[in-house]
Amino acid sequence: MPNRIERTDNNRMLPVDSNTSSTVHSQVLKDIMAEVRASDSNALTERWADRDLEGHAGFALFVVKVASRCNLNCKYCYMYNLSDKSFRSQPKLMTDGTARLLIHRVRDHAYEHGIPDVSFLFHGGEPLLAHPSFYRHFVGLANAELQSIATANFYIQTNATQIDRDWIRLFCDLGIRFGISLDGPADVNDINRVDHQGQSSYGRVRQAIDLVLSDRNAPSLFTGVYTVVNPRTDPLEVYDHFRQIGVPAVDFLLPDGSHDLPPDAYTSVGLTPYSDWLKAVFDEWFTSHRSGPDLRMFRRVIGDLLGIRLPVYNMHMMGHIGPHNPNILVFETDGGIEPLDVLKACGSEFTKLGLNVHRNDIESAYNSRLIDEYITESRRLPTGCQQCEVRDICGGGTLPHRFGNNRRFDNPSVHCADLLDLIAHIRSRVSEALLHEQLPPGIADEPVGRLINDQITLHSPARPLRETKRHLSEAVS
Ligand code: SF4
Repeated sequence: MPNRIERTDNNRMLPVDSNTSSTVHSQVLKDIMAEVRASDSNALTERWADRDLEGHAGFALFVVKVASRCNLNCKYCYMYNLSDKSFRSQPKLMTDGTARLLIHRVRDHAYEHGIPDVSFLFHGGEPLLAHPSFYRHFVGLANAELQSIATANFYIQTNATQIDRDWIRLFCDLGIRFGISLDGPADVNDINRVDHQGQSSYGRVRQAIDLVLSDRNAPSLFTGVYTVVNPRTDPLEVYDHFRQIGVPAVDFLLPDGSHDLPPDAYTSVGLTPYSDWLKAVFDEWFTSHRSGPDLRMFRRVIGDLLGIRLPVYNMHMMGHIGPHNPNILVFETDGGIEPLDVLKACGSEFTKLGLNVHRNDIESAYNSRLIDEYITESRRLPTGCQQCEVRDICGGGTLPHRFGNNRRFDNPSVHCADLLDLIAHIRSRVSEALLHEQLPPGIADEPVGRLINDQITLHSPARPLRETKRHLSEAVS
C-alpha cells in the first residue's frame, strides 16, 4: 500500500512516497465508476450518526407468509430448525379471506402515511405450495385496492422445486419478480438444502433455473439467487457454478444465529470463517475479466466505501451488510401481524405480538414493544459499534445477529469479526485499484481520500482484539 495519495490535475490518484506499485486492475471498479458517471443521482451514503430516530414513515414492504410449511427441510432454516416452532400452530396456507383483509389493512396504512410504493413479498415456508389461483386473486385485488393510492410491486422468494412452465407463465402474467434459493452445485447445495427424507433438492432447482433462463420473458423477472455461505465448502467452486449456469445475481447471506445461539462454524472452522470464504470470491470477482453474476453485497460495500449510494436492487436485506430497512412488516398465514420474520432466530414465539388483521389495523403495531424495538434498533448502531471504523458500511449487523438475552439488540453482530475483516479486505483491494482510475466527479473527494490514506482501525468489540488483529493483518498489509 502506498503511504499517501495525491490527486493530479487530471483528477487521477497517484501514490506518493510509495515503495510499492499496485497491480490491481478491476473491471468491476471501472463498471462502478461508469455507473456513477452515468447516474444523475450522487446521493452520498447516510452516516449512522446523522440518522433520524424520530417518527416512522410507515411500513412499505409486507412479507406475506403464504404457506407455513415447506417441502424442503433446510438444516439452517430459521422457520423450522432454530429456536422457534410456532409454525406448528399456524394454518398451513393463507386463505383468500385473510389475504383480502390484509390487503385492506395495507391500503388503509398506505393512504394514512402517504406511501407511494408498496411491495408484497410472498414468502413461506414455500410459497409455491399455494394454488396459483391464490396469486391471481391476491395480485388482482391488491392492484384494484391500491389504485390511485400507491403502486403495488410483487415479489416471491422460492426454493424453486415447484417451478414449471405454468408457474413461469403466472409470474409473467402477474408481473411477479422472483428470487430463488440455492447454495451452489449439488455437492454444496445438498449439504443443507434437502427434503424431509434427506434427499437432494439440487436437480429440481437446477431444472427450474434452466427453464426460467430459456424463457422469452421470465429472465427479466428473475432477481437472482440467495445463497447461505458455508465455510466448509470451496468458495471458487460455488462462484464458478453460478457463473456457469448464468444466474443474473447472487446475494450471499451469513447464516442466522444470535449471541445466545451462534453459528457452529465459529467453534469448528475458525475465527473469521465466513469472511475467509467471501474474500476468495471477492478477489475473483473483482479482478477477473470474465463476466458473471452481479454480487450485490460487494458492489454495495464498494459504493459505500466511495461514499456513494449505488442503486442496487434492495427487496429485502441483502447480504447482511449495510443499513437495515425499518419498514418491513410480516403477515403470518393466519393473518398475524409480526415484525421481521428472521427475528424468529432469537427465541421461541419471539415474533408473536397478539395482533391479527382479522381484529387489528396496522397502526396497532406501533403500540407493540417489539415493533418499537425493531424500528428503533434498525436505525441505531449498537453501543459497541459506535467507535468502529467501518460502522457506516457495516451497520452493526442485522437485528437477529445482534441479539443476546442480556443486552437484547445492543450488541455488535455475532458475525462482527467477519464483517470487519471482509470490509477491511475490500477496502484494501479497492484502494489499490483506485490508483489506476480516473475518478468521476460524482465521487466525493473526502471519502476517497480517506479510503486511500487512512489505515483501518483494528477494532472489533465482539471478539478479542488480539485475535482480530492477527486475522486482519493479512487483509490490510
Ligand atoms: S463493531 Fe463489528 S458489527 Fe459493529 S460496525 Fe464494526 S464490524 Fe460491524
